Amino acid sequence: MINKSIWINKENNSVEESLKENTQCDILIIGGGISGLSAAYYLKDSNKKVVLIDKDRIGYGATSKNTGKLDYMQGLIYHKIKKNYNKETAKIYLESQKEAISEVIKIIKKYKINCHLNETTSYVFSNNIDDEKDINKEIDFYNDNNIDYKIESNLPIKYPSKIVISTNGNYIFNPYEYMLGLKKIIKDKIKIYENTICTSINKKEDYYLCKIDDKYEIKAKYVVCATHYPIFIVPFLIPFKTEVQNFYIGAFKVKDTKDISLLSYNKPVISMRYYDNYFLYGRRSHSSSTNLDIRKDLECIKEEITKYWGKDIDYFYHTNDIMTYDNLPFIGEVSSHLYIATGFNKWGNTNGTISGKVISDLINNNKNKYIELFNPKRGISLDKIKNIPIYNIKVGTRYILNKINPHMNYYNNNVKIKFINGKRCGIYIDDNNKEHIVSNICPHMKCNLIFNYIDKTWDCPCHGSRFTIDGNIIEGPSVYNIKIK
Ligand SMILES: Cc1cc2nc3c(=O)[nH]c(=O)nc-3n(C[C@H](O)[C@H](O)[C@H](O)COP(=O)(O)OP(=O)(O)OC[C@H]3O[C@@H](n4cnc5c(N)ncnc54)[C@H](O)[C@@H]3O)c2cc1C
Repeated sequence: MINKSIWINKENNSVEESLKENTQCDILIIGGGISGLSAAYYLKDSNKKVVLIDKDRIGYGATSKNTGKLDYMQGLIYHKIKKNYNKETAKIYLESQKEAISEVIKIIKKYKINCHLNETTSYVFSNNIDDEKDINKEIDFYNDNNIDYKIESNLPIKYPSKIVISTNGNYIFNPYEYMLGLKKIIKDKIKIYENTICTSINKKEDYYLCKIDDKYEIKAKYVVCATHYPIFIVPFLIPFKTEVQNFYIGAFKVKDTKDISLLSYNKPVISMRYYDNYFLYGRRSHSSSTNLDIRKDLECIKEEITKYWGKDIDYFYHTNDIMTYDNLPFIGEVSSHLYIATGFNKWGNTNGTISGKVISDLINNNKNKYIELFNPKRGISLDKIKNIPIYNIKVGTRYILNKINPHMNYYNNNVKIKFINGKRCGIYIDDNNKEHIVSNICPHMKCNLIFNYIDKTWDCPCHGSRFTIDGNIIEGPSVYNIKIK
Protein backbone atom coordinates (compact mmCIF):
# COMPACT_ATOMS: atom_id res chain seq x y z
CA MET A 1 0.00 0.00 0.00
CA ILE A 2 1.32 3.44 -0.95
CA ASN A 3 0.71 5.89 1.82
CA LYS A 4 0.43 9.05 -0.30
CA SER A 5 -2.00 10.89 -2.53
CA ILE A 6 -2.74 9.31 -5.90
CA TRP A 7 -2.50 12.72 -7.63
CA ILE A 8 1.09 13.57 -6.73
CA ASN A 9 2.55 10.26 -7.75
CA LYS A 10 4.20 11.72 -10.83
CA GLU A 11 6.74 14.39 -9.97
CA ASN A 12 6.92 17.35 -12.37
CA ASN A 13 6.82 20.34 -10.07
CA SER A 14 9.89 22.63 -10.45
CA VAL A 15 11.25 23.96 -7.13
CA GLU A 16 11.09 27.71 -6.44
CA GLU A 17 13.64 29.44 -4.22
CA SER A 18 12.80 30.32 -0.64
CA LEU A 19 12.81 33.92 0.65
CA LYS A 20 16.25 34.96 1.91
CA GLU A 21 15.87 38.71 2.51
CA ASN A 22 13.30 41.31 3.53
CA THR A 23 11.03 42.36 0.70
CA GLN A 24 7.91 44.37 -0.05
CA CYS A 25 4.96 44.11 -2.38
CA ASP A 26 1.44 45.42 -2.84
CA ILE A 27 -0.28 42.07 -2.29
CA LEU A 28 1.07 39.09 -0.34
CA ILE A 29 -0.74 35.79 -0.89
CA ILE A 30 0.06 33.24 1.80
CA GLY A 31 -0.63 29.68 0.61
CA GLY A 32 -0.28 27.99 -2.76
CA GLY A 33 -3.30 25.67 -2.72
CA ILE A 34 -6.28 26.09 -5.02
CA SER A 35 -7.40 29.26 -3.17
CA GLY A 36 -4.04 31.06 -3.16
CA LEU A 37 -3.24 30.08 -6.74
CA SER A 38 -6.70 31.16 -7.93
CA ALA A 39 -6.30 34.53 -6.16
CA ALA A 40 -2.88 34.88 -7.84
CA TYR A 41 -4.43 34.00 -11.21
CA TYR A 42 -7.08 36.72 -10.96
CA LEU A 43 -4.62 39.29 -9.56
CA LYS A 44 -1.80 38.65 -12.02
CA ASP A 45 -2.86 41.46 -14.39
CA SER A 46 -3.81 43.99 -11.70
CA ASN A 47 -0.72 46.22 -12.11
CA LYS A 48 0.12 45.52 -8.49
CA LYS A 49 3.24 43.74 -7.31
CA VAL A 50 2.06 40.34 -6.06
CA VAL A 51 4.13 37.82 -4.08
CA LEU A 52 2.91 34.29 -3.29
CA ILE A 53 4.58 32.20 -0.59
CA ASP A 54 4.07 28.62 0.55
CA LYS A 55 5.55 26.93 3.59
CA ASP A 56 6.03 23.79 1.53
CA ARG A 57 5.92 23.13 -2.21
CA ILE A 58 3.09 24.66 -4.27
CA GLY A 59 0.09 22.34 -4.38
CA TYR A 60 1.10 19.93 -1.62
CA GLY A 61 -1.68 20.99 0.78
CA ALA A 62 -5.24 19.70 1.23
CA THR A 63 -6.12 20.25 -2.44
CA SER A 64 -3.66 17.60 -3.57
CA LYS A 65 -5.35 15.07 -1.31
CA ASN A 66 -8.97 15.58 -2.28
CA THR A 67 -11.22 13.54 -4.58
CA GLY A 68 -10.87 15.91 -7.55
CA LYS A 69 -14.56 16.60 -8.03
CA LEU A 70 -15.89 19.82 -9.52
CA ASP A 71 -19.49 19.38 -8.52
CA TYR A 72 -22.37 21.76 -8.10
CA MET A 73 -24.41 18.81 -6.77
CA GLN A 74 -22.93 18.79 -3.27
CA GLY A 75 -24.95 16.28 -1.29
CA LEU A 76 -28.12 18.00 -0.12
CA ILE A 77 -26.54 21.39 0.51
CA TYR A 78 -29.13 23.63 -1.12
CA HIS A 79 -32.05 22.79 1.12
CA LYS A 80 -29.75 23.29 4.13
CA ILE A 81 -28.71 26.77 2.94
CA LYS A 82 -32.36 27.51 2.15
CA LYS A 83 -33.29 26.49 5.69
CA ASN A 84 -30.45 28.55 7.21
CA TYR A 85 -31.23 31.59 5.04
CA ASN A 86 -33.73 31.54 2.19
CA LYS A 87 -34.19 30.22 -1.34
CA GLU A 88 -32.52 33.28 -2.90
CA THR A 89 -29.31 32.67 -0.89
CA ALA A 90 -29.29 28.99 -1.91
CA LYS A 91 -29.76 30.05 -5.54
CA ILE A 92 -26.80 32.46 -5.40
CA TYR A 93 -24.65 29.69 -3.88
CA LEU A 94 -25.66 27.40 -6.78
CA GLU A 95 -24.69 30.15 -9.24
CA SER A 96 -21.32 30.58 -7.53
CA GLN A 97 -20.56 26.86 -7.85
CA LYS A 98 -21.61 26.73 -11.51
CA GLU A 99 -19.54 29.85 -12.22
CA ALA A 100 -16.50 28.28 -10.48
CA ILE A 101 -16.84 25.17 -12.65
CA SER A 102 -17.03 27.22 -15.86
CA GLU A 103 -14.05 29.35 -14.75
CA VAL A 104 -11.92 26.22 -14.18
CA ILE A 105 -12.95 24.82 -17.58
CA LYS A 106 -12.20 28.17 -19.26
CA ILE A 107 -8.72 28.32 -17.68
CA ILE A 108 -7.96 24.68 -18.54
CA LYS A 109 -9.01 25.20 -22.17
CA LYS A 110 -7.31 28.58 -22.62
CA TYR A 111 -3.95 27.44 -21.25
CA LYS A 112 -4.27 23.82 -22.37
CA ILE A 113 -3.69 22.44 -18.88
CA ASN A 114 -3.45 18.68 -19.00
CA CYS A 115 -5.27 17.71 -15.81
CA HIS A 116 -7.54 14.84 -16.85
CA LEU A 117 -10.69 16.99 -16.93
CA ASN A 118 -13.83 15.00 -17.79
CA GLU A 119 -17.53 15.77 -17.64
CA THR A 120 -19.47 13.43 -15.34
CA THR A 121 -22.88 12.45 -14.21
CA SER A 122 -23.05 12.94 -10.46
CA TYR A 123 -25.07 10.70 -8.19
CA VAL A 124 -26.25 11.53 -4.69
CA PHE A 125 -27.68 8.53 -2.90
CA SER A 126 -28.80 7.21 0.42
CA ASN A 127 -29.16 3.73 1.79
CA ASN A 128 -31.58 4.96 4.40
CA ILE A 129 -35.18 5.41 3.31
CA ASP A 130 -35.68 7.92 6.15
CA ASP A 131 -33.58 10.36 4.12
CA GLU A 132 -36.31 10.58 1.49
CA LYS A 133 -37.82 13.65 3.14
CA ASP A 134 -34.53 15.60 2.87
CA ILE A 135 -33.91 14.38 -0.67
CA ASN A 136 -37.39 15.57 -1.66
CA LYS A 137 -36.61 19.01 -0.26
CA GLU A 138 -33.46 19.11 -2.42
CA ILE A 139 -35.54 18.04 -5.42
CA ASP A 140 -37.94 20.93 -4.73
CA PHE A 141 -34.95 23.26 -4.97
CA TYR A 142 -33.87 21.62 -8.24
CA ASN A 143 -37.39 22.08 -9.66
CA ASP A 144 -37.48 25.75 -8.62
CA ASN A 145 -34.10 26.37 -10.25
CA ASN A 146 -34.48 24.38 -13.47
CA ILE A 147 -31.81 21.83 -12.53
CA ASP A 148 -32.18 18.82 -14.76
CA TYR A 149 -32.13 15.76 -12.49
CA LYS A 150 -33.18 12.15 -12.71
CA ILE A 151 -34.49 9.83 -10.04
CA GLU A 152 -32.61 6.61 -10.68
CA SER A 153 -33.54 3.10 -9.65
CA ASN A 154 -29.90 2.09 -9.00
CA LEU A 155 -26.35 3.36 -8.85
CA PRO A 156 -24.16 2.63 -11.91
CA ILE A 157 -21.90 0.52 -9.65
CA LYS A 158 -22.65 -2.35 -7.30
CA TYR A 159 -23.07 -0.54 -4.02
CA PRO A 160 -26.06 -0.46 -1.65
CA SER A 161 -28.50 2.37 -2.25
CA LYS A 162 -32.22 2.89 -1.70
CA ILE A 163 -32.71 6.40 -3.10
CA VAL A 164 -30.61 7.82 -5.96
CA ILE A 165 -30.74 11.12 -7.85
CA SER A 166 -28.40 12.23 -10.61
CA THR A 167 -27.48 15.42 -12.46
CA ASN A 168 -25.23 16.21 -15.42
CA GLY A 169 -22.79 19.04 -16.03
CA ASN A 170 -20.41 18.16 -13.19
CA TYR A 171 -16.71 17.48 -13.75
CA ILE A 172 -13.77 15.53 -12.37
CA PHE A 173 -10.09 16.37 -12.74
CA ASN A 174 -6.66 15.86 -11.20
CA PRO A 175 -6.46 18.81 -8.77
CA TYR A 176 -2.68 18.63 -8.43
CA GLU A 177 -2.09 18.84 -12.19
CA TYR A 178 -4.53 21.76 -12.32
CA MET A 179 -2.58 23.61 -9.60
CA LEU A 180 0.70 23.00 -11.44
CA GLY A 181 -1.00 24.49 -14.51
CA LEU A 182 -1.99 27.59 -12.51
CA LYS A 183 1.55 27.88 -11.15
CA LYS A 184 2.93 27.88 -14.69
CA ILE A 185 0.46 30.58 -15.82
CA ILE A 186 1.19 32.99 -12.94
CA LYS A 187 4.94 32.42 -12.70
CA ASP A 188 5.95 35.10 -15.24
CA LYS A 189 3.97 37.81 -13.46
CA ILE A 190 4.10 36.86 -9.80
CA LYS A 191 7.11 36.09 -7.61
CA ILE A 192 6.67 32.71 -5.94
CA TYR A 193 8.67 31.57 -2.91
CA GLU A 194 8.42 27.98 -1.73
CA ASN A 195 9.55 26.53 1.62
CA THR A 196 8.80 29.97 3.05
CA ILE A 197 6.58 29.98 6.12
CA CYS A 198 4.71 33.02 7.39
CA THR A 199 4.77 32.98 11.17
CA SER A 200 2.81 36.17 11.91
CA ILE A 201 0.87 38.97 10.26
CA ASN A 202 1.22 42.30 12.08
CA LYS A 203 -0.86 45.36 11.29
CA LYS A 204 1.08 48.62 11.03
CA GLU A 205 -0.33 52.05 10.02
CA ASP A 206 -1.39 51.35 6.44
CA TYR A 207 0.42 48.11 5.71
CA TYR A 208 1.16 44.65 7.17
CA LEU A 209 4.53 43.31 8.29
CA CYS A 210 4.56 39.57 7.83
CA LYS A 211 7.27 37.59 9.60
CA ILE A 212 8.84 34.87 7.52
CA ASP A 213 10.33 31.99 9.49
CA ASP A 214 10.92 34.59 12.23
CA LYS A 215 13.96 35.75 10.18
CA TYR A 216 12.73 38.01 7.39
CA GLU A 217 9.82 40.35 6.82
CA ILE A 218 7.49 41.02 3.92
CA LYS A 219 5.84 44.43 3.92
CA ALA A 220 2.52 44.36 2.05
CA LYS A 221 -0.49 46.64 1.71
CA TYR A 222 -2.89 43.71 1.18
CA VAL A 223 -2.57 40.22 2.68
CA VAL A 224 -4.54 37.20 1.46
CA CYS A 225 -4.41 34.36 3.99
CA ALA A 226 -5.13 31.31 1.81
CA THR A 227 -3.58 28.82 4.23
CA HIS A 228 -6.61 26.48 4.36
CA TYR A 229 -7.01 27.18 8.10
CA PRO A 230 -6.13 30.84 8.85
CA ILE A 231 -2.89 31.12 10.80
CA PHE A 232 -4.14 33.88 13.10
CA ILE A 233 -6.74 33.59 15.85
CA VAL A 234 -7.53 37.32 16.18
CA PRO A 235 -9.25 38.87 14.27
CA PHE A 236 -12.21 36.65 13.42
CA LEU A 237 -11.71 33.86 16.03
CA ILE A 238 -11.90 31.12 13.42
CA PRO A 239 -11.23 28.22 15.88
CA PHE A 240 -14.50 29.03 17.63
CA LYS A 241 -16.61 29.24 14.47
CA THR A 242 -15.56 26.14 12.55
CA GLU A 243 -14.99 22.42 12.91
CA VAL A 244 -12.14 20.38 11.43
CA GLN A 245 -13.34 17.10 9.89
CA ASN A 246 -11.12 14.24 8.75
CA PHE A 247 -11.72 12.33 5.56
CA TYR A 248 -9.88 9.23 4.27
CA ILE A 249 -9.38 7.94 0.74
CA GLY A 250 -8.48 4.42 -0.35
CA ALA A 251 -7.78 3.67 -4.03
CA PHE A 252 -7.58 0.31 -5.76
CA LYS A 253 -6.94 -0.88 -9.32
CA VAL A 254 -9.86 -1.63 -11.65
CA LYS A 255 -10.18 -2.79 -15.26
CA ASP A 256 -13.02 -0.58 -16.53
CA THR A 257 -13.59 3.03 -15.61
CA LYS A 258 -16.56 5.39 -15.98
CA ASP A 259 -16.88 9.18 -15.82
CA ILE A 260 -19.10 9.26 -12.77
CA SER A 261 -19.04 10.90 -9.39
CA LEU A 262 -20.89 9.42 -6.42
CA LEU A 263 -21.68 10.78 -2.99
CA SER A 264 -23.77 9.22 -0.25
CA TYR A 265 -26.05 11.32 1.89
CA ASN A 266 -26.43 8.92 4.80
CA LYS A 267 -23.62 8.73 7.36
CA PRO A 268 -20.75 8.04 7.07
CA VAL A 269 -20.51 10.09 3.88
CA ILE A 270 -18.88 8.05 1.11
CA SER A 271 -17.41 9.82 -1.93
CA MET A 272 -16.39 7.76 -4.97
CA ARG A 273 -15.04 8.18 -8.50
CA TYR A 274 -12.66 6.60 -11.01
CA TYR A 275 -9.27 7.98 -12.00
CA ASP A 276 -6.97 6.42 -14.53
CA ASN A 277 -7.14 2.70 -13.71
CA TYR A 278 -8.16 3.26 -10.13
CA PHE A 279 -11.37 3.53 -8.13
CA LEU A 280 -11.26 6.08 -5.32
CA TYR A 281 -13.27 5.31 -2.18
CA GLY A 282 -13.42 8.28 0.19
CA ARG A 283 -14.92 7.92 3.63
CA ARG A 284 -15.73 10.82 5.90
CA SER A 285 -14.89 10.15 9.48
CA HIS A 286 -15.79 12.21 12.48
CA SER A 287 -14.65 15.60 13.61
CA SER A 288 -10.88 15.46 14.27
CA SER A 289 -11.52 15.99 17.99
CA THR A 290 -13.56 12.80 18.35
CA ASN A 291 -11.39 10.65 16.10
CA LEU A 292 -8.07 9.64 17.60
CA ASP A 293 -7.01 6.36 16.03
CA ILE A 294 -6.48 6.56 12.27
CA ARG A 295 -5.69 2.81 12.16
CA LYS A 296 -9.41 2.18 12.69
CA ASP A 297 -10.25 4.34 9.66
CA LEU A 298 -7.79 2.46 7.48
CA GLU A 299 -9.21 -0.88 8.67
CA CYS A 300 -12.74 0.33 7.98
CA ILE A 301 -11.88 1.40 4.43
CA LYS A 302 -10.00 -1.86 3.81
CA GLU A 303 -12.95 -3.94 5.08
CA GLU A 304 -15.48 -2.06 2.97
CA ILE A 305 -13.36 -2.29 -0.20
CA THR A 306 -12.93 -6.03 0.34
CA LYS A 307 -16.65 -6.43 1.09
CA TYR A 308 -17.94 -4.59 -1.99
CA TRP A 309 -15.17 -5.15 -4.55
CA GLY A 310 -13.08 -8.02 -3.16
CA LYS A 311 -9.95 -5.92 -3.66
CA ASP A 312 -6.90 -4.87 -1.67
CA ILE A 313 -6.15 -1.22 -1.22
CA ASP A 314 -3.28 0.30 -3.31
CA TYR A 315 -3.27 3.90 -2.06
CA PHE A 316 -4.34 5.32 1.28
CA TYR A 317 -4.25 9.02 2.15
CA HIS A 318 -6.19 11.54 4.16
CA THR A 319 -6.64 15.18 4.91
CA ASN A 320 -9.11 17.40 6.68
CA ASP A 321 -11.38 20.25 5.76
CA ILE A 322 -12.95 23.13 7.60
CA MET A 323 -16.71 23.07 8.18
CA THR A 324 -18.77 26.18 8.90
CA TYR A 325 -21.92 26.47 11.01
CA ASP A 326 -24.14 27.60 8.12
CA ASN A 327 -22.78 25.56 5.14
CA LEU A 328 -21.34 28.68 3.48
CA PRO A 329 -17.59 29.41 3.24
CA PHE A 330 -15.85 32.38 4.82
CA ILE A 331 -14.34 34.39 1.96
CA GLY A 332 -13.51 38.07 2.22
CA GLU A 333 -12.07 40.85 4.34
CA VAL A 334 -11.75 40.24 8.10
CA SER A 335 -9.80 43.40 8.90
CA SER A 336 -8.76 46.31 6.69
CA HIS A 337 -6.95 44.80 3.65
CA LEU A 338 -6.63 41.36 5.31
CA TYR A 339 -8.55 38.59 3.53
CA ILE A 340 -9.36 34.96 4.28
CA ALA A 341 -10.66 32.06 2.18
CA THR A 342 -11.63 29.08 4.31
CA GLY A 343 -14.53 26.91 5.52
CA PHE A 344 -15.18 25.22 2.20
CA ASN A 345 -17.20 22.39 3.77
CA LYS A 346 -15.40 19.79 1.58
CA TRP A 347 -16.07 21.73 -1.65
CA GLY A 348 -12.80 23.63 -2.05
CA ASN A 349 -12.21 23.00 -5.74
CA THR A 350 -15.18 25.19 -6.57
CA ASN A 351 -15.10 27.46 -3.50
CA GLY A 352 -11.30 27.91 -3.67
CA THR A 353 -11.66 28.98 -7.30
CA ILE A 354 -14.47 31.44 -6.63
CA SER A 355 -12.61 32.75 -3.54
CA GLY A 356 -9.77 33.86 -5.85
CA LYS A 357 -12.21 35.87 -7.94
CA VAL A 358 -14.05 37.39 -4.95
CA ILE A 359 -10.83 38.45 -3.20
CA SER A 360 -9.31 39.88 -6.37
CA ASP A 361 -12.53 41.89 -6.96
CA LEU A 362 -12.49 43.14 -3.36
CA ILE A 363 -8.87 44.30 -3.70
CA ASN A 364 -9.54 45.93 -7.07
CA ASN A 365 -12.79 47.51 -5.88
CA ASN A 366 -14.78 45.64 -8.50
CA LYS A 367 -18.35 44.50 -8.03
CA ASN A 368 -18.90 40.81 -7.39
CA LYS A 369 -22.31 39.33 -6.62
CA TYR A 370 -20.86 36.78 -4.17
CA ILE A 371 -19.18 39.25 -1.80
CA GLU A 372 -22.17 39.43 0.55
CA LEU A 373 -22.91 35.68 0.31
CA PHE A 374 -19.47 34.67 1.55
CA ASN A 375 -18.78 37.72 3.75
CA PRO A 376 -16.96 36.28 6.80
CA LYS A 377 -18.49 39.05 8.91
CA ARG A 378 -22.06 38.14 7.93
CA GLY A 379 -24.59 38.43 10.71
CA ILE A 380 -25.22 35.36 12.84
CA SER A 381 -28.74 34.93 14.12
CA LEU A 382 -29.57 32.56 16.97
CA ASP A 383 -31.19 29.91 14.78
CA LYS A 384 -28.02 29.57 12.66
CA ILE A 385 -25.45 29.28 15.39
CA LYS A 386 -26.63 26.06 17.01
CA ASN A 387 -23.58 24.29 15.58
CA ILE A 388 -21.13 26.71 17.20
CA PRO A 389 -21.63 25.48 20.80
CA ILE A 390 -21.49 21.86 19.51
CA TYR A 391 -18.11 22.51 17.81
CA ASN A 392 -16.72 24.22 20.89
CA ILE A 393 -17.95 21.58 23.32
CA LYS A 394 -16.33 18.82 21.22
CA VAL A 395 -12.98 20.62 20.97
CA GLY A 396 -13.11 21.83 24.59
CA THR A 397 -13.86 18.30 25.85
CA ARG A 398 -11.01 16.85 23.78
CA TYR A 399 -8.68 19.59 25.05
CA ILE A 400 -9.46 18.80 28.70
CA LEU A 401 -9.47 15.00 28.26
CA ASN A 402 -6.06 15.12 26.58
CA LYS A 403 -4.65 17.23 29.41
CA ILE A 404 -5.78 14.82 32.12
CA ASN A 405 -5.35 11.54 30.24
CA PRO A 406 -2.56 11.05 27.71
CA HIS A 407 -4.33 7.94 26.27
CA MET A 408 -1.55 5.52 27.13
CA ASN A 409 -3.83 2.52 26.49
CA TYR A 410 -3.94 3.57 22.87
CA TYR A 411 -0.17 3.55 22.39
CA ASN A 412 2.09 0.55 21.81
CA ASN A 413 5.47 0.28 23.50
CA ASN A 414 7.10 2.44 20.82
CA VAL A 415 5.26 5.61 21.85
CA LYS A 416 5.51 7.25 25.24
CA ILE A 417 4.24 10.45 26.80
CA LYS A 418 6.61 11.73 29.51
CA PHE A 419 7.34 14.89 31.43
CA ILE A 420 10.93 16.01 30.74
CA ASN A 421 12.18 19.11 32.62
CA GLY A 422 8.56 19.86 33.49
CA LYS A 423 7.43 19.77 29.84
CA ARG A 424 5.03 17.17 28.46
CA CYS A 425 6.87 15.38 25.64
CA GLY A 426 5.97 12.74 23.07
CA ILE A 427 8.56 10.05 22.39
CA TYR A 428 8.57 7.79 19.35
CA ILE A 429 11.06 4.89 19.37
CA ASP A 430 11.92 3.85 15.81
CA ASP A 431 12.90 0.40 14.46
CA ASN A 432 16.59 1.11 15.28
CA ASN A 433 15.62 1.87 18.87
CA LYS A 434 16.33 5.58 18.38
CA GLU A 435 14.17 7.92 20.45
CA HIS A 436 12.57 10.91 18.69
CA ILE A 437 11.53 13.34 21.41
CA VAL A 438 9.25 16.31 20.71
CA SER A 439 6.99 18.60 22.67
CA ASN A 440 3.51 17.08 23.05
CA ILE A 441 1.83 20.49 22.96
CA CYS A 442 0.52 22.09 19.76
CA PRO A 443 1.91 25.64 19.47
CA HIS A 444 -1.38 26.87 17.96
CA MET A 445 -3.73 26.64 20.98
CA LYS A 446 -1.83 24.31 23.34
CA CYS A 447 -3.87 21.16 22.69
CA ASN A 448 -2.01 17.88 23.35
CA LEU A 449 -0.94 15.94 20.26
CA ILE A 450 -1.88 12.36 19.42
CA PHE A 451 0.44 9.93 17.64
CA ASN A 452 -0.72 8.86 14.18
CA TYR A 453 0.41 5.27 13.62
CA ILE A 454 -0.19 5.18 9.86
CA ASP A 455 1.82 8.27 8.86
CA LYS A 456 4.10 8.28 11.91
CA THR A 457 3.25 11.88 12.74
CA TRP A 458 2.00 13.83 15.74
CA ASP A 459 -1.46 15.25 14.99
CA CYS A 460 -3.52 17.88 16.80
CA PRO A 461 -7.10 16.65 17.37
CA CYS A 462 -8.35 20.19 18.06
CA HIS A 463 -7.57 22.13 14.87
CA GLY A 464 -5.68 19.73 12.59
CA SER A 465 -1.99 20.80 12.84
CA ARG A 466 0.44 17.95 12.08
CA PHE A 467 4.14 17.40 12.80
CA THR A 468 6.85 14.88 11.88
CA ILE A 469 8.38 12.59 14.54
CA ASP A 470 11.30 15.06 14.68
CA GLY A 471 8.97 17.97 15.30
CA ASN A 472 8.85 19.70 11.91
CA ILE A 473 5.52 21.20 10.97
CA ILE A 474 3.62 19.49 8.14
CA GLU A 475 0.23 21.19 8.30
CA GLY A 476 -1.11 24.28 10.09
CA PRO A 477 -2.78 26.24 11.58
CA SER A 478 0.33 26.02 13.77
CA VAL A 479 3.21 28.01 12.28
CA TYR A 480 5.83 26.62 14.66
CA ASN A 481 7.44 23.22 14.96
CA ILE A 482 7.48 21.18 18.18
CA LYS A 483 11.21 20.49 18.50
CA ILE A 484 12.65 20.46 22.00
CA LYS A 485 15.15 23.27 22.30
C1 LIG B 1 -10.56 13.93 1.61
C2 LIG B 1 -11.18 15.17 1.08
C3 LIG B 1 -11.74 15.12 -0.18
C4 LIG B 1 -12.19 16.30 -0.77
N1 LIG B 1 -12.68 16.25 -2.02
C5 LIG B 1 -13.09 17.39 -2.62
C6 LIG B 1 -13.59 17.35 -3.95
O1 LIG B 1 -13.68 16.30 -4.58
N2 LIG B 1 -14.02 18.51 -4.50
C7 LIG B 1 -13.93 19.70 -3.83
O2 LIG B 1 -14.36 20.71 -4.37
N3 LIG B 1 -13.39 19.77 -2.57
C8 LIG B 1 -12.97 18.65 -1.96
N4 LIG B 1 -12.45 18.70 -0.70
C9 LIG B 1 -12.18 20.00 -0.06
C10 LIG B 1 -10.90 20.64 -0.60
O3 LIG B 1 -9.86 19.68 -0.70
C11 LIG B 1 -10.39 21.78 0.31
O4 LIG B 1 -11.47 22.58 0.69
C12 LIG B 1 -9.40 22.63 -0.47
O5 LIG B 1 -8.37 21.81 -0.95
C13 LIG B 1 -8.80 23.73 0.37
O6 LIG B 1 -7.96 24.48 -0.49
P1 LIG B 1 -6.98 25.58 0.10
O7 LIG B 1 -6.30 26.24 -1.03
O8 LIG B 1 -7.74 26.44 1.05
O9 LIG B 1 -5.96 24.75 1.01
P2 LIG B 1 -4.63 23.95 0.65
O10 LIG B 1 -4.74 23.22 -0.61
O11 LIG B 1 -4.28 23.18 1.88
O12 LIG B 1 -3.57 25.10 0.44
C14 LIG B 1 -3.09 25.87 1.53
C15 LIG B 1 -1.60 26.11 1.32
O13 LIG B 1 -1.16 27.04 2.31
C16 LIG B 1 0.14 26.66 2.72
N5 LIG B 1 0.38 27.22 4.06
C17 LIG B 1 -0.25 26.88 5.21
N6 LIG B 1 0.22 27.59 6.24
C18 LIG B 1 1.18 28.41 5.73
C19 LIG B 1 2.03 29.39 6.30
N7 LIG B 1 2.00 29.66 7.62
N8 LIG B 1 2.92 30.05 5.50
C20 LIG B 1 2.97 29.76 4.16
N9 LIG B 1 2.17 28.84 3.57
C21 LIG B 1 1.28 28.18 4.34
C22 LIG B 1 0.12 25.14 2.69
O14 LIG B 1 1.43 24.59 2.60
C23 LIG B 1 -0.76 24.86 1.47
O15 LIG B 1 0.01 24.64 0.31
C24 LIG B 1 -12.08 17.53 -0.07
C25 LIG B 1 -11.58 17.56 1.23
C26 LIG B 1 -11.16 16.39 1.82
C27 LIG B 1 -10.69 16.43 3.23
